[in-house]
Amino acid sequence: MLPPFLDIKNLSVTIDKTEILKDLTLAMPKGETHAIMGPNGSGKSTLALTLMGHPKFKITGGSIIFENEDLTKLPVYKRAQAGIFLAFQHPYEIEGVTLRQFLYQAYQAKYKNAGVREFEKKLVDACKLLNLKPAFVEREINVGLSGGEKKQAETLQLAVLQPKLAILDEIDSGLDIDALKRVCNGINAVKKENPEMTLLVITHYPRILHYLEPHAVHVMREGAIVQSGTKELALELEARGYESND
Ligand code: ADP
Ligand code: MG
Repeated sequence: MLPPFLDIKNLSVTIDKTEILKDLTLAMPKGETHAIMGPNGSGKSTLALTLMGHPKFKITGGSIIFENEDLTKLPVYKRAQAGIFLAFQHPYEIEGVTLRQFLYQAYQAKYKNAGVREFEKKLVDACKLLNLKPAFVEREINVGLSGGEKKQAETLQLAVLQPKLAILDEIDSGLDIDALKRVCNGINAVKKENPEMTLLVITHYPRILHYLEPHAVHVMREGAIVQSGTKELALELEARGYESND
């Protein structure tokens, strides 16, 4: 049997000496969409930021194997070059840098020797795919954008950078239903073009899973995965809430 594409084993993580992730185990095959659901404070963002390599989080035990390579000691940029991408729950606003400038830098850092023409084509294609007006990329990063536009900016990064593993941390939070549908249509369009892309969809609400079909759903609680199942599990949580599993 093939080893999993992403294999997290017994991962424990602390922040300022407080243990947040406790012996967390999760495996994902390539090309699948998995959802992680859990109440606020269960450690979902901690997991996302730890996978991406945020230096604030200290790994005290366990391993993260991605395509047969141990990620735990790699800096963020090496993980990005290896094909990991994180869409932030709370995207940062950066004044004075346009989305286009940022994406060009990121594209060049990832695809070494990429020329400006290649990048421009990628950017134009990605905007078309996501139904974004060209003027959108001339905005400063997230400055003055609505909640929905910020998440569209994250989706545009996904479309341009074409990661192997995309971690989407509450890409649905704060969006009304139209904005949610738009963002999900974008993600589905990116995935349709690149079916090998693996998606880890982190969410508090089951609603998004009506638009992004998950192969598996995992429930997180107090820093560990406590239950795994199919989409039915998300529907059950939608009907009964997280407390019913106590
Ligand atoms: P979720 O994304 O599931 O809402 P988080 O990973 O953001 O959960 O948070 C998990 C726990 O870690 C919470 O109890 C939170 O208070 C704590 N935590 C997160 N970030 C910090 C931090 N910078 N300093 C101290 N505690 C933190
Ligand atoms: Mg969170």
